[in-house]
Amino acid sequence: MKDYYLVDYHLHTPRCGHAWGELDDFVRRALDLGLKEIGFADHFPLLHLRDESLSMGLEEVPIYVEEIYELKGRFPEIDIKLGIEADYVPEVLEELNSLLERYPFDYVFGSIHYVDGWGFDDPRYLGGYEKWKIIDLYRRYFQILGDAAETGMFDILAHPDLVKKFGYRPEEDLEDIYLTCLERVARAGIAVEINTSGLRKPAGEIYPALPFMRICRELGIGITLGSDAHEPADVGRDFQLAVSLMEETGYEDIILFEKRNPRPQPLKLS
Ligand code: ZN
Ligand code: FE
Ligand code: FE
Ligand code: ZN
Repeated sequence: MKDYYLVDYHLHTPRCGHAWGELDDFVRRALDLGLKEIGFADHFPLLHLRDESLSMGLEEVPIYVEEIYELKGRFPEIDIKLGIEADYVPEVLEELNSLLERYPFDYVFGSIHYVDGWGFDDPRYLGGYEKWKIIDLYRRYFQILGDAAETGMFDILAHPDLVKKFGYRPEEDLEDIYLTCLERVARAGIAVEINTSGLRKPAGEIYPALPFMRICRELGIGITLGSDAHEPADVGRDFQLAVSLMEETGYEDIILFEKRNPRPQPLKLS
């Protein structure tokens, strides 16, 4: 993988309450793998509820920022970015927006972890799947994903088809649902993330699915790359497979971010 410009933009830290390890070890793992850049993107505080097992508290955000800057200073041999993963929750959007603007993030991930108040990606609330016809859940999820894109508050949509995480899949074809959603994403001009953590979940597949990625490519939507590592061992996990999907769908560039400005970077180094 040495001839590729690989970055891992989706690393968590123990501040979120469900990640483990020393920040130095995340960096060392990235150096061992020869990644060109990494970015921490820990969970921004949830504003609609407080759960210490899901995100850092508001008072911790400045400390998180400090920690990443300190890390940057100690590891000049790799480019370390300051990102954040923020939840799209319609009720608290304005508050979120004004808080995000206070910090010098290189990029902000928008994540859908809630469908109408239900934390569908949280194993504690798996029972919620019984209440939905799965195709309706997917329809609703991708509608919300489009809503999130249109807020203009996010640079990248994280794990774009997270709704498949626990392996609940509709029998119906999803092309139309993907297309309707992705036309909104393309118009919003933001990127989507290729996130390898789905391989480590019951879904057993990268987020997003290949047909989704093909439509992204057709619509000219940019992509970033991340492992969603919640421990050092998962940094850069399964990037070989991610690269082969990118090549299969015709992606030649990935998008890099600095101070919230996107810049395409050829994936393959010549
Ligand atoms: Zn997490
Ligand atoms: Fe997430
Ligand atoms: Fe994450
Ligand atoms: Zn995530």
